[in-house]
Amino acid sequence: MISPSTRELQALDRAHHLHPFTDFKALGEEGSRIVTHAEGVYIHDSEGNRILDGMAGLWCVNLGYGRDELVDAATAQLRELPYYNNFFKTTHPPAVRLAEQLCRLAPAHINRVFFTGSGSEANDTVLRMVRRYWALKGKPEKHIVIARENAYHGSTVAGMSLGGMAPMHGQGGPCVPGIEHIRQPYWFGEGRFSQGRDQSPAAFGRACAQVLEQRIQALGEDNVAAFIAEPVQGAGGAIIPPQSYWPAVKAVLAKYDILLVADEVICGFGRLGEWFGSQYYGLEPDLMSIAKGLSSGYLPIGGVLVGDRVAETLIDEGGEFFHGFTYSGHPACAAVALRNLELMEAENVVARVRDELGPYLARRWAELGEHSIVGEARSLGLIGALELVADKASGERFARTLAAGNLCRDLCFQNGLVMRSVGDTMIISPPLVIRHEQIDELVALARRALDETARRLNTNTTV
Ligand code: PMP
Repeated sequence: MISPSTRELQALDRAHHLHPFTDFKALGEEGSRIVTHAEGVYIHDSEGNRILDGMAGLWCVNLGYGRDELVDAATAQLRELPYYNNFFKTTHPPAVRLAEQLCRLAPAHINRVFFTGSGSEANDTVLRMVRRYWALKGKPEKHIVIARENAYHGSTVAGMSLGGMAPMHGQGGPCVPGIEHIRQPYWFGEGRFSQGRDQSPAAFGRACAQVLEQRIQALGEDNVAAFIAEPVQGAGGAIIPPQSYWPAVKAVLAKYDILLVADEVICGFGRLGEWFGSQYYGLEPDLMSIAKGLSSGYLPIGGVLVGDRVAETLIDEGGEFFHGFTYSGHPACAAVALRNLELMEAENVVARVRDELGPYLARRWAELGEHSIVGEARSLGLIGALELVADKASGERFARTLAAGNLCRDLCFQNGLVMRSVGDTMIISPPLVIRHEQIDELVALARRALDETARRLNTNTTV
């Protein structure tokens, strides 16, 4: 039985609240789960359930819930200066200090940051900056950005246009012109089947990079401004490219005068066991979009880290850049982000992901690869995925109508675990402060949901 107070909130929610990425009608019929409080790696709902948050909110609560230090940083800053902007030749201490700290953590050639309120705004800023850069270089025709199918770069018009989510393109188009999409390095989903079974992941990774080169040649180097990609695709399904992919892409980009943009909104701030995913893969991006883990999600903030090549052109040759947001570098958000980075350093969070937690998760997660309905279990740092399959040997998927991923996700929730589904790919991205025994709990809960999913799919019952 659902409690009266939950019912009341659900009714108000149904009446007035349109949720992001939601079938409004279906949710109205079902009713929302109401999350009331959280601590560490656990969230609690209004019905008294405690749930292990295997997604760190939306890939963002890197330091976990209930960190008083972040609350105190916000409170102190809200008392001191709750708001002022960075327009009109003004700034404030938290924005300046955060900018300095970010540039210290970023690769050496990156020494400037432009603040935004979110990851989507960061990628809008990227699009404007790369086009502005080439215009200033006297090459305005170099305006096309190459992105990838099934990438996620945000929900603003530019963000969704850069992203490669076909269902998003299908709603609210036309997209921003001058954006091209190439294939993604998704070995399990596309490599094994489209290229023939005997092709190795390494060969597939190189083939994907070749597609980039072919597209650059087809479009003409003189028309291409930038290539944008997530080091590991997040929302697309925690897609970890074959190890051959990034070196091959780097080699292609080195041949052409094209900017590299790394969307670090998920990979940034320790997810892959380095401060930035680009560092894990040895990339030297000209621009990096950031958000989410920057403040551990406690307050909304994003930004674009701008490498010297682009920054110096914008500064020396650009005059006024007609772009900015009311909340660019918001003082309370910046103060929380700064404290978040200090805590991450003091607690050695990034190295712990690289040396202890990532390898431990990899070992435990791989065990789920043995399960009868799992075709692949992969992880890197603290991001991971399971591919659900009807037939383990052939890798054949379940019929779409069975919605196996959604079934498994719902069963996880019922059992006390947030694990998200992207189609029939189950994904996790837990807080970076998760402990070994909590990883054990996560794996045990995931296994239970897999068992139950298998049982129901075999007997054709739903949740
Ligand atoms: N880029 C990536 C890689 C993301 O995962 C997201 C959000 N999931 C965004 C951009 C957009 O960020 P936001 O939702 O803060 O606008």
